[in-house]
Amino acid sequence: MIVNEIAPIANSLWSATANATPPCPPLRGEEETDVAIVGAGFTGLSAALHLAEAGVAATVLEAETPGWGASGRNGGQVNPGLKEDPDAIEARFGPDIGARMVTLAGGAGDLVFSLIRRHGIDCAGVQAGWIQPVHDAAALRVVQARVDQWARRGAPLRMLSRQETAEMLGTDAYIGGMIDPRGGNLHPLNYALGLAEAALAAGAVLHGQSRALRLERTGAGFVLHTAEGRLRARRVLLCTNGYTDDLMPPLRRTVVPVRSVQVATAPLSDNMRRSILPGGHSASDSRRLLLYFRLDPEGRFVMGGRGAYDARGTLRQMQALREVSEELYPQLNGVEWSYAWGGYVAMTADHYPHLHRMAPGVMAGLGYNGRGVAMATAMGKVLADWARGVPEEALDFPVTEPRPIPLHFLRKPAVRATVAWYRLRDRLAAPR
Ligand SMILES: Cc1cc2nc3c(=O)[nH]c(=O)nc-3n(C[C@H](O)[C@H](O)[C@H](O)COP(=O)(O)OP(=O)(O)OC[C@H]3O[C@@H](n4cnc5c(N)ncnc54)[C@H](O)[C@@H]3O)c2cc1C
Repeated sequence: MIVNEIAPIANSLWSATANATPPCPPLRGEEETDVAIVGAGFTGLSAALHLAEAGVAATVLEAETPGWGASGRNGGQVNPGLKEDPDAIEARFGPDIGARMVTLAGGAGDLVFSLIRRHGIDCAGVQAGWIQPVHDAAALRVVQARVDQWARRGAPLRMLSRQETAEMLGTDAYIGGMIDPRGGNLHPLNYALGLAEAALAAGAVLHGQSRALRLERTGAGFVLHTAEGRLRARRVLLCTNGYTDDLMPPLRRTVVPVRSVQVATAPLSDNMRRSILPGGHSASDSRRLLLYFRLDPEGRFVMGGRGAYDARGTLRQMQALREVSEELYPQLNGVEWSYAWGGYVAMTADHYPHLHRMAPGVMAGLGYNGRGVAMATAMGKVLADWARGVPEEALDFPVTEPRPIPLHFLRKPAVRATVAWYRLRDRLAAPR
């Protein structure tokens, strides 16, 4: 079972209910592969799986165990699409690559569920749909435009009336919403462990407890150094997202790691379960500091939201999540809250994920802005395409140079100020 190393927020529902971790011994001595992958979250594991299935030798180095980063700690909400809507994506990136990005991101949920089916991944994955409930009139207009834009591209999103939203959520706290049937939910850590198992079965190699400490260029390729071994490779994929360290220093400064936290109850009574999200949907709302919530398969209520950098602030945020849950669902008053945990999401300055050419032969995919269950899986496939020789211009995501965020060292105060500002605007926008 995965170790809980998120002190002081070490009590994760997903690690408490995880399947066995597949064998992934540390790298010892010398090994050689075609493609070295750093990081065993959804991005790295999806890349390894797609490469192995294409017959390309791939070896993953993970500092801890598979799924130890955000992939094993998230809300398990499979939300297709990017933060930005299709028209904005095509306007910014142009009709060709923009349209391919829209197709990739819109199809990312289908990719997740098809991998689950194809590899028999035991992660309680259900494509029941993702609801975005709306908290004020301005957000309703944004969501209506989102639905219209996807509908023009043939995607099955639809608006929900105030009453339908209340019935589907089991709370009348929202003024309406939309449903995206391409989305769903899963047990995130078991999805990561299942991807790891599928990658191993397809022939990939996976080393846990093997932090890549140094990346050295050699005549024929690269050598990655760990504490006890060396891995030679022709190409390298960096898949470290909000846990990016200084292996290639500019990468860490292209993202701001922001903490997101969750709390979960003990299994609810059957009556209570039927009164909350009775259709098995997951929900993440339209607030700037969004709330995301769902039931797990055993009927535990799981609520997530923005965390803080320090332990005391994080504990306060967790308590606030319990309180807002009980406001949305008064029947939760008095239930046992059994779990509380968190992890880092990687935010980017432009709110888009990035595919960065770090150096000839080294590519990085990261920056999902809190929406990576589907998108990281899709990005792993794009990275695999590149590593097996698909030209950059034929990839379904644009390749860019890493651009460090200016004044990155001020990220913590900047995040705190932004969070305070967003919280104020959310409060002013709508009474709960
Ligand atoms: C609390 C929380 C809730 C979230 N909820 C949702 C949600 O409901 N829906 C959604 O779509 N997204 C959600 N997200 C975001 C989503 O989890 C991430 O976008 C996604 O998991 C990123 O996957 P990844 O593989 O890129 O990175 P990660 O899963 O973070 O994996 C990176 C890995 O790299 C390893 N690593 C780092 N440096 C090195 C090194 N030098 N050598 C070896 N290994 C290294 C780390 O140990 C880590 O395991 C949430 C995130 C958090 C934290």
